[in-house]
Amino acid sequence: MIQIKGIAASQGISFAKAYFFNNPKLEVLEKKIVNTSEELLKLDSAIELSRRELKLIKEKTSEMIGNDKANIFEAHLLILEDEEYIETVKTDIISKEINAEYALKETSDMFIHMFESMNNKYMKERASDIKDVSKRIIAHLLGVSLPNPSLINEKVIIVANDLTPSQVAQLNHKYIKGFVTNIGGKNSHSSIISRQLGIPAVVGTNNITSIIKNGDFLIVDGTTGIVEINPNNEILKKYKEKKEILKKEKENLYKLSLLKTETADNKKIILSSNIGTLKDLQEVKKNGSEGIGLYRTEFLYMTKGELPTEEEQFNIYKQILLNMKNKSVVVRTLDIGGDKRVPYLGYPNEMNPFLGCRAIRLCLKEKNIFKTQLRALIRASIYGKLCIMFPMISTLTELREAKKIFEEQKIILKKKGYKIAENIEIGVMIEVPSAAILSDFFSKEVDFISIGTNDLIQYTMAADRMNENVSYLYQPYNPAVFRLIDFIIKSAHNENKWVGICGEMASDPIAIPILVGMGIDELSMTSTSILKVRKHIKKLKFSEMKNLSKKILMCRTSDEVISVVEKEIIK
Ligand code: PEP
Ligand code: MG
Repeated sequence: MIQIKGIAASQGISFAKAYFFNNPKLEVLEKKIVNTSEELLKLDSAIELSRRELKLIKEKTSEMIGNDKANIFEAHLLILEDEEYIETVKTDIISKEINAEYALKETSDMFIHMFESMNNKYMKERASDIKDVSKRIIAHLLGVSLPNPSLINEKVIIVANDLTPSQVAQLNHKYIKGFVTNIGGKNSHSSIISRQLGIPAVVGTNNITSIIKNGDFLIVDGTTGIVEINPNNEILKKYKEKKEILKKEKENLYKLSLLKTETADNKKIILSSNIGTLKDLQEVKKNGSEGIGLYRTEFLYMTKGELPTEEEQFNIYKQILLNMKNKSVVVRTLDIGGDKRVPYLGYPNEMNPFLGCRAIRLCLKEKNIFKTQLRALIRASIYGKLCIMFPMISTLTELREAKKIFEEQKIILKKKGYKIAENIEIGVMIEVPSAAILSDFFSKEVDFISIGTNDLIQYTMAADRMNENVSYLYQPYNPAVFRLIDFIIKSAHNENKWVGICGEMASDPIAIPILVGMGIDELSMTSTSILKVRKHIKKLKFSEMKNLSKKILMCRTSDEVISVVEKEIIK
């Protein structure tokens, strides 16, 4: 019976067995072999096991997230059939009299190096396929098993050093009841997606993988960040009761789903949803959301192994707009880089990925990818109320260039005879301090502003949102952050533009009274937070919150901000 405390990343309580999701170390040493025919048989059998496994993974992936995404495993299966690859391994075993795993590793490394050095994205992509496939065969040769979350068919809690955003996006929440990781922060994209999927999660525990054994019974409390390992009956009972209370609270909140959001003195605020996939629309409806304030389009690019076509994107954007009828849908153009890597684009690893070629920077380099997305969006615009925003803008020059490309694509499509909505709104995400400081100028050149506080906090505080060692500096309530937000809201309102917040701060109970007092027009969040926030706002008075926000601007530290809010709100 041990208790571990980490960072509460996604609310909810779950109980299940631990499932280790750590890639084992595959140590391959060269050995001299006398009986090469036996070694060839070993290789054939490892290839056959890999083939069966890949077929099953392909089938499961296709059931869970569709054929497109399962195609990546078809590519892996084809590598197993590649005669040049397999024959080279076999020839090496015979001629050099070496063990199968060493021969396979040498041949794979040669092909990987060859494909990686080609100046062609498709070929670079093949290199990463060979890496994956060779790892699988070597694991079978060494008799170790690789974790395969798509093959899990019983309820488990995943325990891992880390999970990437695309791994989390593909978790099947029928079986995966929660996850716990060594590293990570509350606002990493993996944590954000877990909240969207409603999977309880605790991250940043530092060393959970060295404490838990595969199969241990776990309780994950994503509300407090506590993980109980092999709890006794008394603890188990306590958590079961807590889970029941949370369920009742949630049911009561549904009564608010048809209401508009306004303060006690009738100041209206729009509460919108952040979504990442079409599936998220269910929760949007269920929780009485008033629009989509952030559609993170990058998951279209991350789960498939290749770029989505214009047609594929058009169909998805169209469905979302039709679903939302006359409510606004704010689509963010591609924001990859940082913690969201897309290996098939062939970009090298960066020393500081969050300060590197990310989001709009990448789109302005890879203009064809950007143009394709914009054309798909423009074509879909006639099906609803479309707003497009550009992420991680640092300069007005970037904004102007992005807008110019958007206008050019509009002209191209018009010439081709496409109908286009007249009222597409163009906005900027303010996430970088340089843009925040110049937000008075930015406000003149856009229709709206959306403040991405997740990044604005990390760049203002110079504290990586993924790094638990500096999480004490990742301070949403630091007065420096609130001064920037206040200036952005004033700047937008001076130009009669609306301004929203789409970072996690939008659903933070301490930040909400301050943001309301500053005059925020829209708050966009995970759908499941909307009703709780609506209830919170209904109790606030705008007139009082205005005074509160003035006090906050005179605070010196994060702790001071918290105590002022607590004193004023809880009284
Ligand atoms: C943000 O930075 O606040 C934001 C909404 O974007 P993301 O979390 O996807 O970086
Ligand atoms: Mg961001």
